[in-house]
Amino acid sequence: MPSFESRLNAISKWLSDCDCHHTRCVETPSVRPRRLLDLEEAERTKRIRLIETSASVGTDVRYATLSHCWGPKTSKPPLKTTLENITHHYKGISLDDLNLNFRDAVVIAIKLGVQYIWIDSLCIIQDDYSDWETEAEKMADIYRQSYINIAASAAHDAHGGIVDLSFLHISKDIPTAVIRYSPGAPTVRYTGDGSCEELMIRPSALKQEYRELLSRKSSPYFARGWVLQEVALAPRTVYFTTDQIMWQCRELFESEDGTWSAKNVIPALDYSFTVENCFDFTSKVRAYSLWQMWLKSYATRELTYPSDAAAAAAGLINYYKSATGHTPMLGLWKETLHADLKWSVRGGPFKGSRPSNKLPTSSFPSWSWLCMLPRGESGVGFQNIIYYDKIVPSLRIEEWEEKWSGPAFTSKLEYAKLVISTFVQDGMLSVTQKGDAKVEVNGSRAWQQFPTIEYQLPLGSKHAVKLAHIEQAIYRHNDGKAFQYRDSYLVLRMAASDPPRYERLGFGELDCFSMDDNVDKPGPTGHLERHFMESDRQSIELV
Ligand SMILES: [Zn+2]
Repeated sequence: MPSFESRLNAISKWLSDCDCHHTRCVETPSVRPRRLLDLEEAERTKRIRLIETSASVGTDVRYATLSHCWGPKTSKPPLKTTLENITHHYKGISLDDLNLNFRDAVVIAIKLGVQYIWIDSLCIIQDDYSDWETEAEKMADIYRQSYINIAASAAHDAHGGIVDLSFLHISKDIPTAVIRYSPGAPTVRYTGDGSCEELMIRPSALKQEYRELLSRKSSPYFARGWVLQEVALAPRTVYFTTDQIMWQCRELFESEDGTWSAKNVIPALDYSFTVENCFDFTSKVRAYSLWQMWLKSYATRELTYPSDAAAAAAGLINYYKSATGHTPMLGLWKETLHADLKWSVRGGPFKGSRPSNKLPTSSFPSWSWLCMLPRGESGVGFQNIIYYDKIVPSLRIEEWEEKWSGPAFTSKLEYAKLVISTFVQDGMLSVTQKGDAKVEVNGSRAWQQFPTIEYQLPLGSKHAVKLAHIEQAIYRHNDGKAFQYRDSYLVLRMAASDPPRYERLGFGELDCFSMDDNVDKPGPTGHLERHFMESDRQSIELV
């Protein structure tokens, strides 16, 4: 079995190849964490020191980061910096006092020749809320500028450790032969005289097995909400899994044994995305599909505290904002609001009820998917719009205000007001005895599709609703003559009457086809009228 030190050489090799040859993996430093842990004296004194970066290092400081999970509430928490012990931590922290994940990460960073490391619970004062909000807001940059991100992905909590859990694990399910090989001999010899090297031979494992290694099936780490932005934004992450060390950078994914090497996937994020797409904001469509990939992954993750729903995604939101110049609206975007509103809780209408664990302090409005988190593995689904030839939004934003108690997303949302204007129909939502929901307009027109409703509504109940058109997608079929129109609308129910405010119950879509050759400029003045012809544009406040 190779020693752990010799296995770290593999990481050094990946690092130097990445440093020398990968232009995508270089980030220009702009922000530094407020504090870092200085490891310079660690080998001699067995102590590390918390430092204030403004006094000692430039923005181009090279540091490692640790990506790990704290574990369930029942686990003993990791060592933390608090207002009480911070002076002590500035003087030095004994390696013996560190929980195992931290101690292993420190050892790995030292072996890789990196002098500083950033660890969340030690570098942010955990009982100083304003320090937490400010540093959590910088999280995107802290990970984006990390020289190497060490993922303690096999540890179930802060005390699991990194090194001992990561061993070239020879699974019982994989046939393995242990043979002894003598370089001087022309053939493999099964000898036990001590002069031979020992090799283990096994067939290259199926990709599926590796997929599981990087999934929640192998470790709760991969289900954790906070982890997504850490591994999505750090240019290089090295995963210590229960089986092997795995390397991920923006140009390469590789397993330690070399049997899985890919220049085109980032397995820990999404198999369908190539590395090239993963950080490509050069076109609107690519940036938007990247955002959707993040969202789909994020919305299935666990959060120990539901109140972290926005904070744990703040890094991704801030990164997308800086890359595209778009304006965030509680997890949605002003520029694509008509499409972003088409989210739904997975599992179909009525299969899932509004989460009972929603905290009274959660102040996210019904139109933001943030109000549904955490949802667990079923997650929240989002419509993919990129394949449509043309989208004609009808929704306009008339008023938008938000107020946070501190930095956006990492503090508490105190107030939000959204007023939209669009074409609106008054309709009736009825729930059948089977639990299907359908909407009717004017008592006569039965619409073809069933809307997706997020709430558990009583069977057999009827609800007066407003159907608010948000966009029309048009696609031309292969022969160039037939068009398909898909109208999307929100299903809204009055939540307060003075002044009238509406909550989002769900959304629906209506499809229709046209063979009309003359329709060369489809849009809201054309086929939209089939469904919304009697309607006028109205202003509606959403809550
Ligand atoms: Zn690289």
